Amino acid sequence: MQYVTLNNGVEMPLLGFGVYQIPAEDTERAVSDALAVGYRLLDTAAAYGNEEAVGRAIRSSGIPREDLFVTTKLWVQDAPAENNAKRAFETSLHKLGLDHVDLYLMHQPFGDVYAQWRAMEALNRAGTAKAIGVANFYPDRLIDLITNNEITPQVNQIETHPFFQRADYQNLMREHGVQIQSWGGFAEGRNDLFTHPLLAEIGREHDKSVAQVVLRWLVQRGVITIPKSVRAERMAENFDVFDFRLTDEQMARIATLDTGSSLFFDHRDPQMVTRLGGHRLDT
Ligand code: NAP
Repeated sequence: MQYVTLNNGVEMPLLGFGVYQIPAEDTERAVSDALAVGYRLLDTAAAYGNEEAVGRAIRSSGIPREDLFVTTKLWVQDAPAENNAKRAFETSLHKLGLDHVDLYLMHQPFGDVYAQWRAMEALNRAGTAKAIGVANFYPDRLIDLITNNEITPQVNQIETHPFFQRADYQNLMREHGVQIQSWGGFAEGRNDLFTHPLLAEIGREHDKSVAQVVLRWLVQRGVITIPKSVRAERMAENFDVFDFRLTDEQMARIATLDTGSSLFFDHRDPQMVTRLGGHRLDT
C-alpha cells in the first residue's frame, strides 16, 4: 500500500474502502471481506447509519488498531454547534467502539460551519481525531475556512472521477496543503463508466479492468480513493492497482473525458443547500 503524508504529519493510505449505501445489516460482512482483502482505510459517516457494523468488523478482524485508518463524518449541526458537534463525535466514537478516529470530516459545507470546525479543531488538539478535514467544499468555501481558522483542513473529500476530474482544484488544494480525496471514484457507474470504450481500451493495453484503470488513474494523480463494493471479488480487483502504471499518453486520453461538472448535484445549488443543509440526523 502507498501512503500520503497529510499536512500534520499523519500518514493516510492512498486506497481504502467506502461503505456509503451499504445497508447496516450487510456492512459487517462487507467490511470483514474488505479487511481480509487487505484494505486498511475505512470510510464511513454518521449519516450512513452503519458505524456500529464497521466497529464490529474492526473488532472481529483482530487487526491492531494502529494498522487501521478509520474515517467518519460529522453531519450538519444547528447553531450554536460547538457542543452539538462534540456530542455527535462522541456518539460516532461510541458506535464505532473506538477511542479515536484517524480522520474526522465535516460532511457538508452547511449549517453552523465555523462552530463545527472549531469543535473539530478541539478534537484534533485533544488527539481523539488524529486528522480533520472537510467534504464537498468548493474552492471559495475552502479558502474562506482556511483563512479564518487556525487549523488548515488536512483533507477535502470531493466528487472526483473521470467525468469530473478536479485537476485545477487539486492544484489549488496542493498550494494550501490540503489533500484531495475522491468520493464516487467510479461515478457510481454513471455514464456507463464500467463499459466506457476509451477506459476499456486502456484496460486492454494493461490487461486490467475499467475499474482498475480508473483507480490507477486516481492514485497515480495522488488522489486518495475509497471504492465501494459489496462483492469480495470486486474488492480484490479494486485493490490490485499497484502493479502497473498508466503512461502520460494514457493519462492524457483520460483527461479528455472531463466534463468539468458534477454527475450528482452541485453543493452550491440553492435547492440542494436547502434540502441537505436543512436535514438533521436522528441521534
Ligand atoms: P463508487 O465507489 O463510485 O461506486 C460504487 C459502485 O460501483 C457500486 O454500485 C458497486 O457495485 C460498483 N462497483 C464497485 N467495484 C466495481 C467493479 N470492480 N466493477 C464493477 N462495478 C463495481 O461510489 P460511492 O460508494 O458513492 O463512493 C465511494 C465512497 O465514497 C463511498 O462508499 C463513501 O465512503 C464515499 N462518499 C462520500 C461522499 C461525501 O459526501 N463525502 C459522497 C458519496 C460517497 P457493488 O457494490 O454491487 O459491487
